[in-house]
Amino acid sequence: MQRLITSFAALAALSLSVVVASAQTKSGIDKLYILNCGEGVAGDISRWSPGLNVGKSMDFVDNCYLIDHAQGWMLWDTGVADAIAAMPDGQAPADPRMTRWRRPKTLASQLDALGVKPADIKYVAVSHTHPDHIGNVELFPKSMLLVQKAEYEWPNPTGVGRFKPEHPVTKLEGDHDVFGDGSVMIISTPGHTPGHQSLLVKLPKTGALLLTGDAVHFRSNWENRGVPENNADKEKTLASMQRMADLLAKEKAQLWINHDKAQRDTLKMAPEFYD
Ligand SMILES: [Zn+2]
Repeated sequence: MQRLITSFAALAALSLSVVVASAQTKSGIDKLYILNCGEGVAGDISRWSPGLNVGKSMDFVDNCYLIDHAQGWMLWDTGVADAIAAMPDGQAPADPRMTRWRRPKTLASQLDALGVKPADIKYVAVSHTHPDHIGNVELFPKSMLLVQKAEYEWPNPTGVGRFKPEHPVTKLEGDHDVFGDGSVMIISTPGHTPGHQSLLVKLPKTGALLLTGDAVHFRSNWENRGVPENNADKEKTLASMQRMADLLAKEKAQLWINHDKAQRDTLKMAPEFYD
């Protein structure tokens, strides 16, 4: 009897380890690259945290993130337009308090250096439709766009749509599990724009990362819960920041702030990667 119990316990332990192993290998995510999608100088950072640091300028960066998944490549944000790379002084903003963007490297050249062709990109997801995030969407005319319906349908002051009508698109209404394995989750974070979204990525070794988009612009802006003066909705912005804080705690995730140069200076850029 004792022997039977022992072998039963061994069998149970074995089947448990099989279950654990299959749960661990279920995720198809492999690695994440950070691409340089712009560098700039913000004229007055009190635009983003009203009343604080009035008149103070700050260096900004703009990142794109390339995800290698067994089901295909995904690009998160496309940065400022590659055409800006040809402008030695960068592109001056309409409002000098905003950001003058330069492009030290094109997005196309960085993908090429990694051996990735635009046609290889299965999904292009953008945090929102400001020009420093959608500048190169049409480099990927066949890639499936993942964008919130509220953002897609947000009226554009120029009277035309925010995307080419013929571009394949999945219009999302809330959170979305991109590959169906929980490794890459689009998180709805409205406020900066009506359909703003952020991205939760769960890497095998690095662990969980929350990519902000522009739900927050730089570290002190996050800490003081600054709501930029031109945001679409102040209350939704604050609710989204709280949701992100809760998610960081629940997932034990790192917060990667897209435009924060001080943070990005501590991170590895492509061709190095996070796995
Ligand atoms: Zn931005």
